[in-house]
Amino acid sequence: MKYLFFLIFSLSGFQALSQTTIVRQDESIKKMVDEVSDKNIEASVRKLVTFETRNSMSDTLSATTGIGAARNWIRSEMARYSKESDGRLKAEFDVFTQPADGRRVMVPTVMKNVLGILPGTDPLDDRVFIVSGHYDSRASDVNDAKIFAPGANDDASGTAAVMELARVMSKYKFNCTIIFVAMVAEEQGLFGAANLAKRAKESKWNVAGMITNDIIGNTYGIETGLKDNNSVRIFSEGVSVVETPAEAAARTSTGSENDGRARQFARYMKEVGERYVDQLDVKLIYRRDRYLRGGDHTPFSQQGFAGVRVTEMNENFDRQHQTVRKENGVDYGDLPDFVDYAYTQKVARMNLATLANLALSPREPENVGIITSQLTNKTVLKWEKPKGEAPAGYYVVMRETSSPVWERKFFVTGTTATLNYSKDNYVFGVQSVDADGHESLVVMPKPAR
Ligand SMILES: [Zn+2]
Repeated sequence: MKYLFFLIFSLSGFQALSQTTIVRQDESIKKMVDEVSDKNIEASVRKLVTFETRNSMSDTLSATTGIGAARNWIRSEMARYSKESDGRLKAEFDVFTQPADGRRVMVPTVMKNVLGILPGTDPLDDRVFIVSGHYDSRASDVNDAKIFAPGANDDASGTAAVMELARVMSKYKFNCTIIFVAMVAEEQGLFGAANLAKRAKESKWNVAGMITNDIIGNTYGIETGLKDNNSVRIFSEGVSVVETPAEAAARTSTGSENDGRARQFARYMKEVGERYVDQLDVKLIYRRDRYLRGGDHTPFSQQGFAGVRVTEMNENFDRQHQTVRKENGVDYGDLPDFVDYAYTQKVARMNLATLANLALSPREPENVGIITSQLTNKTVLKWEKPKGEAPAGYYVVMRETSSPVWERKFFVTGTTATLNYSKDNYVFGVQSVDADGHESLVVMPKPAR
């Protein structure tokens, strides 16, 4: 048994390389990835724990404890990074009043997300990428706003990772806007995310992708005993909840249930994350979230944006949503000593690689079509050049219908491509790419004549 366990553990760290994959890294992204510090992440998690509780209904007046002190500290940190970015990073509160719901919000409460907004440099590129963690915490009783609720892994880990991304990335310039968010009231019912998603929709932000990092620091799976610091899960829905009947009909007849925008975004994160972070296997989970559970990406999905969730591979439920205590010799509670900071660093780096590559890329090609005017065993695609930075070319991406990831990328410089592979048997997409290899998200073609 002992040997068997050892064998499985050894294999899990080894990825078979079955075919040649070209790894082309951009020096500036590699540099940013390397700058993400586990020491900074750990310091932020430990600082967040010192506020004793970050319950969204806790005290807002004290300078040292409660959610008010916590959000002021996060904002002051963002403002500190802003100085190092020549003032380009804007540190702001996103303020709203959450009405009482008789469940988890007993009185109308002023709540605040903390935003670090890094505007893009290309006025013709209106894409916005949002990356979040939630800074609120809870103990066993979600309505106990006084008891110690460290929330080190859930979700100071995600918050600290996002703060570290803001610190590193704000020193660099990108084509489009990136917003770093510490979300409030996830535990009360995703209220911070719901408010920001609504604001994004009403303000017509072109949110091209939203990532929530929630519970990204534990590497030990309770009950199973699995230890895993080499894998991370990305949850994505395949079909948008806001699709119209016409879109549903088109999806059904083209078999595109595995190609919704959130699924495309997750696929992109796996490809680019693994390009820059060694010894990290990004697992695509074909589900909106864990079974019957939710997170801050969901309100964004409900507004029609591509929202995904990033979470550790194995969870430890003795350390989530638990009042800190010892019971029958078992330690309960979400304490900072249980977070594996080197692992959180890898997950943060995967986020950074994805966001940097996207925000440095040209915009997606427009009006991407797959020609259906006559029956043929070839595939003909056409598209238009995007606004903003001119792409150096495009990748036509291709995969087997049963493959989770793109398997081939054909580089073309024009805006049309003919391939000797049938659209009946493969899935195709098109992405823009610049001279340094930064790819846009993949656009799925629509039937065209
Ligand atoms: Zn959480």
